[in-house]
Amino acid sequence: MSQSTEITAKARKREGTPVGDCTVMVVEDEPDLQDLLRYNLNRQGYKVVCADSAEQGLKQIQRQPPNLIVLDLMLPGMDGLEFCRLLRKDPQTANLPVLILTAKGEEADIVTGLDTGADDYLAKPFSPRVMLARVKALLRRGQTATEGDSGSQSNLISVKAMAIDSDKHEVRVAGRRVDLTATEFKMLWLLASKPGRVFTRQQIITAIHGQYAAVTDRSVDVQIVTLRRKLGEHGSDVETVRGVGYRFRESGD
Ligand code: CA
Repeated sequence: MSQSTEITAKARKREGTPVGDCTVMVVEDEPDLQDLLRYNLNRQGYKVVCADSAEQGLKQIQRQPPNLIVLDLMLPGMDGLEFCRLLRKDPQTANLPVLILTAKGEEADIVTGLDTGADDYLAKPFSPRVMLARVKALLRRGQTATEGDSGSQSNLISVKAMAIDSDKHEVRVAGRRVDLTATEFKMLWLLASKPGRVFTRQQIITAIHGQYAAVTDRSVDVQIVTLRRKLGEHGSDVETVRGVGYRFRESGD
């Protein structure tokens, strides 16, 4: 990175990247859908680059990495999942936000996509309004993550009525202390650290017990039920995303 690029990057980090400086890459082979995405993103002020295939997308990323990728899974040649895997392996693109597009009802694809490292998904057909909201949320979350990395690691999550303190291993809901098991605490910490982000059961297991743990999906479900009960009326903040996994409800939802 040249010095001037570095300075610009730092300045952006402070101020938050304006929409007009954000480039969204659309990797989609269907021309109509590509046009629809480009039109709506453009209208919102994003710069848009389109690729008809994963191979073309990879070439474009090498020239100019975007701020976010909207990625169709069903592509000619390399499919979207493989593309996503490659992005995650490369340190340059490992943290690039990826929103995958899947055919409606393909829950297995969604789960595999998220396990592969996609940040969020949209089932086709989708409304442009919802798509733009997801893009905006992902870019915002990406920025928060970058800011968090540069500062000290926070040991306290404060979200809605909940205060989660990882030093004290303590959760308070509206001032009231809630006793959680170590696993329940880790689950809540994971979900609440990224409100709005969907985690698959496998991602939850890996984050808590490690990649090779012999923990079943079903045991995650059981622990979520207990966690919700202990959180009382705020238990509903831990949402089930049917067929996919769990997420912590974003403020304002
Ligand atoms: Ca396609």
